[in-house]
Amino acid sequence: MKVIVVGGVAGGASAAARLRRLNENAEIILLERGEYISFANCGLPYYIGEVIRKRDNLVVQSPESMKKRFNLDVRVLNEVKNIDIEKKQVDIYDIKHKKKCRESYDKLILSPGAVPIKPPVKGFDAPNVFTLRDIPDTLAIKNFIDVHNPISAVVVGAGFIGMELVENLYRRGIAITIVELAEQVLAPLDSEMASLIHQHLKEKKVEFYLNDEVKEVEHREGFSLVKLGSGREIKTDMVLIGIGVRPEITLAKISGLEIGERGGIKVDRFLKTSNADIYAVGDAIEVIDYINGNSVLIPLAGPANKQGRIAANNICGMTEEYTGTQGTSILKVFDMTVATTGNNEKLLKRLNIPYEKSFSHSSSHAGYYPDALSLSIKLIFSPDNGKILGAQIVGYDGVDKRIDVIATAIRAGMKVYDLEKLELAYAPSYSSAKDPVNMAGYVASNILKGDSVIIHWHDIEKLNHEKTVLIDVRTPKEFSLGTIEGAKNIPVDELRNRLNEIPQDREIIIFCQVGLRSYIACRILRQKGYKKVKNLSGGYKTYFSAVQRQDNPNIFQYEKIEKSDLIKASESFYHRNSR
Ligand SMILES: Cc1cc2nc3c(=O)[nH]c(=O)nc-3n(C[C@H](O)[C@H](O)[C@H](O)COP(=O)(O)OP(=O)(O)OC[C@H]3O[C@@H](n4cnc5c(N)ncnc54)[C@H](O)[C@@H]3O)c2cc1C
Repeated sequence: MKVIVVGGVAGGASAAARLRRLNENAEIILLERGEYISFANCGLPYYIGEVIRKRDNLVVQSPESMKKRFNLDVRVLNEVKNIDIEKKQVDIYDIKHKKKCRESYDKLILSPGAVPIKPPVKGFDAPNVFTLRDIPDTLAIKNFIDVHNPISAVVVGAGFIGMELVENLYRRGIAITIVELAEQVLAPLDSEMASLIHQHLKEKKVEFYLNDEVKEVEHREGFSLVKLGSGREIKTDMVLIGIGVRPEITLAKISGLEIGERGGIKVDRFLKTSNADIYAVGDAIEVIDYINGNSVLIPLAGPANKQGRIAANNICGMTEEYTGTQGTSILKVFDMTVATTGNNEKLLKRLNIPYEKSFSHSSSHAGYYPDALSLSIKLIFSPDNGKILGAQIVGYDGVDKRIDVIATAIRAGMKVYDLEKLELAYAPSYSSAKDPVNMAGYVASNILKGDSVIIHWHDIEKLNHEKTVLIDVRTPKEFSLGTIEGAKNIPVDELRNRLNEIPQDREIIIFCQVGLRSYIACRILRQKGYKKVKNLSGGYKTYFSAVQRQDNPNIFQYEKIEKSDLIKASESFYHRNSR
């Protein structure tokens, strides 16, 4: 059997290695148009930030090591230009030697990845405007910083790659301005969870503009002027575009393979394209959304690697289905970690899929043990049966394991009631006897069982204050530091003695900092005969963060930026946080 794999990084390298492990006799050719195979895309921003210091560490395997270990015929700088589907042959262009050749195949695997989106904006083609996808892009950005020592950068787009660039440019002592078209950073999050990141970016003195876009970059003597749709103009030294990727379908398209409704290569559940001898994997394909069953593009390394393995299995006769992608992802944003899995509220709303949501703010580990930090979980679930549809977690420590537990629970078809029962590892330095995942399960289950009737932060502004009483059950000190307009302060421990201050005939909205004391207060009032009592889900913390001004304008004045201040901030961040 002769198999050709097109694309030598995540999906392609994984497929080729698996093929060899299953078939020692197959002829396997791995064709990669770039100079490198099997490099660490996900590590690229950290090389720019000098967290990864050695360039060699970015390359996981070389053609030589792949030959030695897996006996693969690896050809870098070899681009596949066309597939002759009838003859089962590919046209290859050897970029280094400027030569064309043809190779036949029995089976073909395509893993051509994705390409960064670069809209036709005037000025985006200048040498100080970058996108980031591969090692040459990385070297170009790093070289620009090393040579020109810029004081400021504009990052266009606050997706995963944009945000990783923000942190790593900050590490290099560069003042950063983000320009984002949406009303929030990090689209996989819902707005109130993104607002926690907005607050953190403000703490780090990152300037950012939301609901705005770059219309033009004018390059002048010594600086560039980034012109936004709002009319604002930002002076900067460099521009980095991270507004997303589109599947690399050039080869598939000209070769006559079917393209799906979302613009990716169409595959069946065995990852076979419209041609029976050609499989496709990775960022280039459309996958089934594990939660809602629709065709989607989810460009992530985990799915690409798994699909590469499955395609190889299927070629070798071990029939295996790809069951869909749930989009589990994680990102470090300065001191915080953001993670998501499954569908978010925005998407479920758009698809008209019924859902309920809960917010819980726990500590990363037992509060009495040093360094416990807050961890916020948004759980999204079916109101009918409690099936988990998605989760978003924002925190400082322990976010990774909590999202993985919930991602696993989703795969197992679990319901929020099951999260209550999970027996998770506990010692004070790692968790609490009720882990944050258990707590999220309790909060969601209480809502579904009717033990806790909730109101969400976005419904507060719609309240009719003549028919409603807002009660803040935190301490007077907390109350004095800020509360919801119109709220009355009755600390939870005084509630039983102050019932005369709470009318029976009005709707009572109770809140505390995170929703726990208010839950207790709600239970007291319900048992004292109050019928219309609601708990503000996620408490004042979720409310306050969500209703604040979200952008962070006018932080820098280009002429007044002091490089020494930037370096100081970056060094202090670096010493605290060298991960
Ligand atoms: C900066 C950055 C950070 C990332 N961080 C993360 C992360 O933290 N977590 C995560 O899950 N994902 C991350 N990703 C995404 C992840 O890298 C991709 O999802 C994954 O690499 C996709 O694998 P793939 O095989 O589909 O494509 P790629 O890994 O991009 O490989 C495709 C290869 O195919 C080659 N190719 C294309 N067309 C041809 C042709 N005609 N002939 C020959 N070769 C061709 C390309 O040159 C390319 O090298 C990141 C991506 C980037 C760029």
